[in-house]
Amino acid sequence: MAQTEGQKRSVKSVIVVDLRLKQSNQNNHTSFNMQAAKGLINWIKMGISEVTSAIDAEREARINAHAGVINLEFGRLKKGFAFDAAVEKFGISGGDRSAVAERVYRGFLARTWKDLSQTDRETELLSWAAGCLGISTDKVSQLNQEAAANAFQQVLVAALADNQINDAEAGQLSQIAARCGFTVQTMMATFFEHKGEALIRSAFTQYSSDGKLERDEWKQFLQTVEQLGVPRDKMLHAIRQPARQLIEHVLADARSDKEISEREEKVLSSLLSNLIDDTTFVAYVREQIAETKWMAEIEKGRLPSIGSPPEAALRAGEIAYYSGPVRYVRTRELSSGKKTEELDGLAVITDTRFILSATDKSFQISHRKILGHRLSSAGLEIRSDGKGAGTYSFPVDHDKAFTIWRVAIGRANQTIVETGTNNTRHISRDVRQRVWQRYGGRCVECGAADYLEFDHIIPVAKGGSNSDSNVQLLCRKCNLKKSDRI
Ligand SMILES: [Zn+2]
Repeated sequence: MAQTEGQKRSVKSVIVVDLRLKQSNQNNHTSFNMQAAKGLINWIKMGISEVTSAIDAEREARINAHAGVINLEFGRLKKGFAFDAAVEKFGISGGDRSAVAERVYRGFLARTWKDLSQTDRETELLSWAAGCLGISTDKVSQLNQEAAANAFQQVLVAALADNQINDAEAGQLSQIAARCGFTVQTMMATFFEHKGEALIRSAFTQYSSDGKLERDEWKQFLQTVEQLGVPRDKMLHAIRQPARQLIEHVLADARSDKEISEREEKVLSSLLSNLIDDTTFVAYVREQIAETKWMAEIEKGRLPSIGSPPEAALRAGEIAYYSGPVRYVRTRELSSGKKTEELDGLAVITDTRFILSATDKSFQISHRKILGHRLSSAGLEIRSDGKGAGTYSFPVDHDKAFTIWRVAIGRANQTIVETGTNNTRHISRDVRQRVWQRYGGRCVECGAADYLEFDHIIPVAKGGSNSDSNVQLLCRKCNLKKSDRI
């Protein structure tokens, strides 16, 4: 028994490996839709009827052979056919009798459903044949349901090739279901509970794999779900994962563009209000939307004016952009060894300088004296010949503080043209789309699926390009770790 389980598992894993190989062999330009479609095809290939046990292969062969001759006899005698007489004639043992009858009946069912429909006449004939073969009513009803479910599944998969079920297709499904006393909804619930969920997930994934979900697509999707009679909570459960992925995709695109379009914001809002019931996640997404919008303003050079902070005496006409707690660390290699200076205080960033006030020490750096800056996981590293060289981190609003300071430095030195400079490192939507799919919406380093950013493998400043081969997906944490190494 344990061995059989093991064998099953190994067969399963072979299939999984095979699928993975197929997927990785596809080139990066293959759209995700293709993969999802393949999933559907595999799904139908699996079939829904039980795979006949091959344990007693000899008996199987015998029953098949008997069913073959009985079938011929049935065709020859038609209305004159009698199962008892045929059993005797061909020497079928009592033990094989019901299995042979079933096999013959299954053959009739398969022929009937070949065109994916069943006429009233066919229903009559089947019922008569079942009587002739002496199959119990329960068994007949079970076989009828299985055959109808098979036809139902084939129509369903064909219908969903375009991701939606139109009225004609819905009518066909309902007719098939009715042949064994089901509705589309009860058919789905009885035979396709798990597969239905996979199917809905697959349809949603296909709609959203381009990182967008058009209004019409969402409408069509809901219509399909409704046609299938899948309840809303089941639908929500089915698409929870791809919906989160879509949200992360939209956010990563927005981060890359350093702005969030009205459309993107609409998609996010509607997804959040419709789909996500996880309040922590909703809060995270709302914060990310606000942050991206805020950053977009800053990147455009629209720095916020905060009035005069009490920590610093500003000069006439000086504008303060930021004030908040800061931690300053400077490590120096002296002849006496390494010396680390640490300072916790308050920072004020203005249009001309950075001011740090701590209890026992205060200093300021003019933006113009700064020779270079670089973001690392420790904070913003500032190079300067004078005072203030070191690493700054901001316990509150660190991203905001970094961005404000960076933009303020650029403006004071006029090294950054306020808009447009980023174009040289702009990754096109097409490239991002392919990269997203190549990494399956996950960080290439740690596999995280949130806080994702499109990253230049070789930085643009070092000659890296914006093409597929130089772009990867990293989560924010791994992205910062990477900048430590460069
Ligand atoms: Zn990561």
